[in-house]
Amino acid sequence: MDVNFDGQHKNIVDPNICPHCHVTNTPHLTWIVQTRDTDDVDCYISAWHCSNAECTKVFVTLHKLSGVNFQFTRFLNGLPKGPDWPKPIWELNSGKPNEEGQIVQSNFIKTYLQSLEAENYGLDELAGMGYRKAIEYLVKDWAIQNNPEDRDKIEILWLGEAIKRYFQGDLKEILERATWLGNDQAHYNRLFEEFDIDVLKELIDLIMVDLDREYKKAHYIQIIQSKKSGHHNKN
Ligand SMILES: [Zn+2]
Repeated sequence: MDVNFDGQHKNIVDPNICPHCHVTNTPHLTWIVQTRDTDDVDCYISAWHCSNAECTKVFVTLHKLSGVNFQFTRFLNGLPKGPDWPKPIWELNSGKPNEEGQIVQSNFIKTYLQSLEAENYGLDELAGMGYRKAIEYLVKDWAIQNNPEDRDKIEILWLGEAIKRYFQGDLKEILERATWLGNDQAHYNRLFEEFDIDVLKELIDLIMVDLDREYKKAHYIQIIQSKKSGHHNKN
């Protein structure tokens, strides 16, 4: 889009992705207004119509003057895009049936996305506590999925205790660290001030990769069975 800023022609790069559907497209500019932010920095706020036929929502962008050009700062509505969820994380469920008798999806993804949204709005205190809660859903629902007979017990366990009893090796170590950082986010006195929310999110990413790998290994070990006994192979 072209703007006339204090008599000078400036070009601002159009957004090419929609914060609602996260599909790359060529949105249409609906309106644009020049204003100043709370620090008195010149900026433009513009509204766009997503051109993805399955979405067509309106979103609003903020561009701030940085040096001689206006740079994209952030979307003012819509949702930040979460990580690409590995299949076993996407399919993770709470083990509990809803009123129709269907097993409901784990609250992990929902809680993670809400935390991400809070973070995106600058609500870092809420976001930190949210990520901590997301980890608890992930840990307990994963443990329940693999040990359905222990469900009642797992639900009421302290998070640290659930990790100790149901996870091993590196994964257990990383989960414990994510929990320390997560708990820290929920307390008045912070013990780990040198680690911020980005570190906590990176640990959650690592945990998802590990769980995905664990799931795939178990899956292939189960479906590919030895053919020795049936066919008298020498291998
Ligand atoms: Zn869209």
